Amino acid sequence: MLKVAYLHAGTDEVEILKGVNLYVREGEIHVIFGPNGSGKSTLFHVIIGSRKYTIKKGRIFFKGEDVTELGINERSRLGIGIAFQKPPTVKGLRLIDLVRLLLSKYKRVSEDEVLKFSEMLGVEHLLEREVNRGFSGGELKKGELIQLFAQDPDLIMLDEPDSGVDMESVEVIGRAIEIMLRRKDGRSAIIVTHTGEILDHLNADVAHMMIDGRIVCMGEPDEILDSIRRWGYSGCLERCMRGETLGNKGGDKKG
Ligand code: ADP
Ligand code: MG
Repeated sequence: MLKVAYLHAGTDEVEILKGVNLYVREGEIHVIFGPNGSGKSTLFHVIIGSRKYTIKKGRIFFKGEDVTELGINERSRLGIGIAFQKPPTVKGLRLIDLVRLLLSKYKRVSEDEVLKFSEMLGVEHLLEREVNRGFSGGELKKGELIQLFAQDPDLIMLDEPDSGVDMESVEVIGRAIEIMLRRKDGRSAIIVTHTGEILDHLNADVAHMMIDGRIVCMGEPDEILDSIRRWGYSGCLERCMRGETLGNKGGDKKG
């Protein structure tokens, strides 16, 4: 589904991603953990083709096609979708208007299905409001999910769907993500999570830990999360550098 190869990217002034490799197969759910400022959101922006960042080295392949030079619209059309960590407010455009634009552009989902999905999230009233204007933390995340549902992409990238959200909403959001993933066989997802809370509500296949623009280790999601909770990111990094395996219950075996 997605292959990111030796990706170096950033702004004109700074290199933020320093050689990222990522390989996501069809149907897999990956999570990316990492401290603030490690480059997780930048990685998503670069994968979707945002012009905020430039690629210095490396390539991005989506469903076998090299998309490195393609713009954000072409990549979305091919089937890459994103829910932003901090989605912008769109004045003068209601969420339902945006949803209708997406429905007519992608032609994969009906308005009725979007309405049912919004009701499942408990936020159908948001459809009449301007996109993200005055939305609470949880409403922002749910509004993003509704847009993704209307687009119906093959690769779903979710940037911190569980941050700034109350516990009940995390559960609803987790269930909504599961529903979206199950609507079509072979759909893949990459989920950035700072706290790992969302993992209580959906099953991921692979976890990565990103520190300072690099993916420093990968493994079984529960084990990686357990290691982060036990040792913190810096402790995990020290263990990785010593060649130890993370998360092997006790963590003192050599890997
Ligand atoms: P994360 O999502 O892991 O918290 P980000 O990808 O948002 O981290 O940011 C990674 C680093 O890159 C941070 O130090 C951030 O300040 C920096 N950064 C991100 N975007 C820009 C930008 N447009 N200009 C300068 N620095 C940036
Ligand atoms: Mg971020």
